[in-house]
Amino acid sequence: MIVKTSHEIYLDFNATTPVLPAAVKEAHDAMQDLYGNPSSTHTSGLRARFILESARDLVRQVLGADKGQFVFTSGATEAIQMGIFSVLCQLRERRLNGETPTGQRLLLYGATEHKAVPQALQHWARLLGVDHALVKIPVDRQGRLDLDFIRLHAAQADLICTMAVNNETGVITDLAAVEAAIRDQNKQVPWLVDCVQAIGKLKLDLAKTTIDYAAISGHKIYAPKGIGLLYARPNAPLVPLLAGGGQEHGARGGTENLPGVAAIAAVLKLLVQADSRAFGLPKKLTEYRDRIVTQLKRAFPTIVFNTPFEQAVPTTINFAVKGFPSKELLDLFDAAGIRVSSGSACGSAVQGSYVLEAMGLPRWQSDGAIRLSFGPLATDVEISAACEQIEQAGRALCESCLVVSPDWEHPSRQPLNGLVQLKNGSMCTWLLFEASSQRCVVIDPSAELAERIESLIRCQGSQIVAILETRELIDRESCRQDLLARLPALTLSSASTGDRLGWPTQSDGMATLADGSVCPYLKFADDTIIVPVELADLTPPSRVYLVGSLSEDQQLLPENVRFAFSGELISMGDPGPIESDSDSSERLQNALRRLSTIILPHTVLCPTQDHNNDFATTLYAEQRCNEPLRRLLDPVKLLPNVQSERCRTQFDTHQSEMNQIKATSVMVRDVLPTGDTSIELRKHELKAFFEQHRNSLIIDVREPHEFAFAQDWSTLGFDAPPENVPLTRLTGQLPRLLNLALEQDREVIFICRSGKRSGKAAEIVRRLGVSKVHHITGGIALNVSQTCATQDSLADTGFVI
Ligand code: PLP
Repeated sequence: MIVKTSHEIYLDFNATTPVLPAAVKEAHDAMQDLYGNPSSTHTSGLRARFILESARDLVRQVLGADKGQFVFTSGATEAIQMGIFSVLCQLRERRLNGETPTGQRLLLYGATEHKAVPQALQHWARLLGVDHALVKIPVDRQGRLDLDFIRLHAAQADLICTMAVNNETGVITDLAAVEAAIRDQNKQVPWLVDCVQAIGKLKLDLAKTTIDYAAISGHKIYAPKGIGLLYARPNAPLVPLLAGGGQEHGARGGTENLPGVAAIAAVLKLLVQADSRAFGLPKKLTEYRDRIVTQLKRAFPTIVFNTPFEQAVPTTINFAVKGFPSKELLDLFDAAGIRVSSGSACGSAVQGSYVLEAMGLPRWQSDGAIRLSFGPLATDVEISAACEQIEQAGRALCESCLVVSPDWEHPSRQPLNGLVQLKNGSMCTWLLFEASSQRCVVIDPSAELAERIESLIRCQGSQIVAILETRELIDRESCRQDLLARLPALTLSSASTGDRLGWPTQSDGMATLADGSVCPYLKFADDTIIVPVELADLTPPSRVYLVGSLSEDQQLLPENVRFAFSGELISMGDPGPIESDSDSSERLQNALRRLSTIILPHTVLCPTQDHNNDFATTLYAEQRCNEPLRRLLDPVKLLPNVQSERCRTQFDTHQSEMNQIKATSVMVRDVLPTGDTSIELRKHELKAFFEQHRNSLIIDVREPHEFAFAQDWSTLGFDAPPENVPLTRLTGQLPRLLNLALEQDREVIFICRSGKRSGKAAEIVRRLGVSKVHHITGGIALNVSQTCATQDSLADTGFVI
């Protein structure tokens, strides 16, 4: 089913917001008409100065502080630097003047602060030679600062940095309580508050507090990037980071960014209007959040929210879905036209969130965290569109059987046929599906993936023929028993009565392998059998499972083996469970040699460990890339002193080059190590490229739930969408791809959303010996233009001047 997306739904307002049309207009006017330099004394200069000072007045009103200094900066990062720099300069000065502190002095900051704070503290303390200890104030499970900790340490502190609202979770800091904890112990210590995510959402009355410094940023409140502000309380030290022409009352040299100032002023004007229709009332915003939350729960029944809603601003929703790393959810949302982020945009490389870790959330919740944030100017229209799109994303996921939603009882699921690879870290679980007979086999099921495996099997309605292990488990947990308990109605009785590695007690016959050995087999489908090959010499005893077709005389010939589930015998790039004594090396050598006689060099090996993200391998690839293994398979050489040796492809270079791609051009790059075979094509040249490569296999490696959303393939000159082989099922298609590429010399071209997965696919296939393989850097993202619903509906709100 194709789900159409006509709009981009932007839900990443904590990263940055679109610019309010009124702000665009003011910035535009400041460039076009009011371009004078605020320092000039002629009329143009005076007009510019008027804009600057009017904006400063507005800031005073919004921050609720009429005294003190208000310095326009390039953003909040600079404002934070300036506050921290000023305090540390003063500390240094005091030290140089001979003041000697008693005991270890501290610089305290909240454990969930934006990185700008700890990194600025570290940077300036080092450069200025301030030897204070940097100490994190812990937070509780709900992200709230530990007030006892503050009370305990405030007396030794010479600077305390906290935030008003957290950018990842939306958690609101009780500033009054923090203030009481600090001031009970220390009346003097400078206190900096990062107010970036609070402006427009919470009322700030700085004059009524003892906050010494506050930082704000324009691009988080509908103004453009490049404008922010530092507030410094009267008498708080302020040392310029930039020395120059005395601008900003001597606090920041350099001609002011007047268009930025004019733009932020337009937003602030709306904020201070007594009857502000503009910035959403908490009740309305809470209602919007509740609508999105309801929709998310329908789409992802196992969703977990990472912050209690009562503690957070309603515009931020942070959640995780069990069994889904955030990268996978991000890809799904992005394909559905919904822009969200994992954790904070600054740490956008998808990895665990330090904020959620500081809150003590389990690893999976932090690794799988998604932040969805809307702005205080959100409208009913936008929220409805967002909910609709989230529903589409949920349905797409449901149809690909990755979640089972009780709300959609009969999804038009896509039948699975072939091999599916699931990963938990470096551990692989393999599922073999047969669509027509609705049967499946599970190999090496990882405990962490139990729910996901269950979803897939339940949704497919497949009967479990066997749940197999390749060796007795020492270092990982299997969920074989758990799966049997979860899916009793879908398990054939023979599967639940298997031996210690799950092989059913009754086989369907005996097959002869190429080395003459005779093994039992299970008939999985009409032309597919599964054969366990014992490697009893190894410790612990291991098995390789071969999957292939039986010839008429009951032989499983090497050329008819499609996959070999090799367990931990070969972990790609390494020889496997090798031990230092030569006895075990010899046993391993025997096992590998035996394997090499019953399969072909290009037979696809599916291992249980995949440390290097190679997905699958072949003996051919290992012999080329895995020197120790090559030596083990080479009868002439002596057994080596084995060390892991990784076959690094050109991928690293290729990745860094990919980062340099421009939005206007798309590169088609050969990943062969020959280096100079890359062709850089402009967008319009791609059509011609594909025209010339008509005979190539063009494969989209996104997941089916992403592929389900329509793309305008005609941009690339395609009449119909390319073949979809998701990266998680690429291994299942490798026998066919290797055959077409190696035997028939067909070229392979991969494509995906951004070029990352297609690059990976190209690397995998290339590693297996295919030379004519390309991928499109920049992927679909750079080839399909999208319209922005948010911008459209902002124009509808009546704020367009
Ligand atoms: N503080 C918080 C809480 C933020 O969310 C951000 C931006 O992500 C910053 C500081 C840095 O702001 P800027 O991008 O204006 O430097």
